[in-house]
Amino acid sequence: MTQLHDDLASASSRRAAAVAAARLIAASARRTQQELDVDGAFPAAEVRALAEHGLLAAPLPVRWGGAGLLERDGSKALALVLSAIGAGSLPLGRLYEGHVNAIGLILAYGRIEQQEMFAAKSREGHLFAVWNTQREPGVRLAAQGAGWRLQGAKIFASGAGFVRYPLITARTEAGDLLMVIPDAANARVDLSQWRAHGMRASASGAVDFSDLGVGDDSIIGGPDDFHRQPMFSTGAWRFAAVQYGAVASLFDLARAHLVKADRAGDPHQLARLGAAAIAVETARLWVFEAATRSHGSGDPAASVAYVNLARLAVERAGLEALELAHRSVGLAAFLRPHPIERLSRDLATYLRQPAPDEALCEAANFLVTSPRPIAEIWENEDAPD
Ligand SMILES: Cc1cc2nc3c(=O)[nH]c(=O)nc-3n(C[C@H](O)[C@H](O)[C@H](O)COP(=O)(O)OP(=O)(O)OC[C@H]3O[C@@H](n4cnc5c(N)ncnc54)[C@H](O)[C@@H]3O)c2cc1C
Repeated sequence: MTQLHDDLASASSRRAAAVAAARLIAASARRTQQELDVDGAFPAAEVRALAEHGLLAAPLPVRWGGAGLLERDGSKALALVLSAIGAGSLPLGRLYEGHVNAIGLILAYGRIEQQEMFAAKSREGHLFAVWNTQREPGVRLAAQGAGWRLQGAKIFASGAGFVRYPLITARTEAGDLLMVIPDAANARVDLSQWRAHGMRASASGAVDFSDLGVGDDSIIGGPDDFHRQPMFSTGAWRFAAVQYGAVASLFDLARAHLVKADRAGDPHQLARLGAAAIAVETARLWVFEAATRSHGSGDPAASVAYVNLARLAVERAGLEALELAHRSVGLAAFLRPHPIERLSRDLATYLRQPAPDEALCEAANFLVTSPRPIAEIWENEDAPD
């Protein structure tokens, strides 16, 4: 009983420390954003700060030196951490979100010795990533001796050239999709195509793994575990949390601009600020609700539908906040080095997430095929406090 009490107290103080550290790092990341807004940039100092403050280990269970951020009662703290980092720097938030995603997959599907090994690596300061996006035929795994040989490349791989142990998806000759964590030290990295409108500092390049060998100890889980529901879709709340942080930052920047320009009292400006505040709070409410529901013990299909709606609600809130900020601030918001100019590009770019139409239609289809009233569906969903 005393041990349990100590563990709970330790988890809760570690989570509070993680949130405080995320806010601290976000504040300094905000200051270096402008200089990192160039092709090929990467927030190396900020990632080091994440490691030094224990944030790379924080998603791990407390017994492995983490703060249990991926556990059911750590979800609120994780939402606060992700949104704080996203508010400071969207590229850093993207990188940290990928790290958390990779640890979640390793904890869910890895063997205990793999979990322990990668837990040790994240405590040592390694940043992980999940690289799934590819052009067909993508990355393949061919049997070679007792292990495997990789062929093919990933694209839009955040942290390309900086992440040593990415979790990638690859298909075997038999057609099974597997998760693999190769040592990417000898992979061929090409950042030349990442000439992006925004999110320049996320180093989201192409990585060719051809001819790298991997052993069975690098394979995480079994065939198609990567797409296993509800985890595959419910994890989307985490990128929405990073996006929400940026939407809130955009509001703060627009408000500060209007106050400084002595234009905030104008009724049109006030109306737009009010509308933008509604968009920000809508995003926040969806994110925090989706964070807890992603751990719900109710109908998993309801959790998936809820998170699909949440990511689109946050996308809509972001688009609306951008439009309102641009209209309110005017041309100044499009001139470098105004922080809204960069944030607008970063946010517009990071709002692009895979298959938004499909996510909306899947959620709508869940509702169409349910006989229950919509209020009952969400009210009955078991969401912890
Ligand atoms: C900054 C940044 C970092 C990233 N980092 C990573 C990373 O580390 N790892 C990784 O794996 N990926 C990464 N990605 C890629 C990301 O996960 C998505 O794959 C990408 O953003 C999808 O963008 P898209 O708008 O082209 O999506 P799409 O899914 O192609 O959607 C574009 C439009 O087409 C529609 N559409 C989609 N499929 C179809 C279809 N079959 N038929 C008709 N219409 C369709 C969609 O609904 C949407 O309207 C990153 C992306 C960004 C922006």
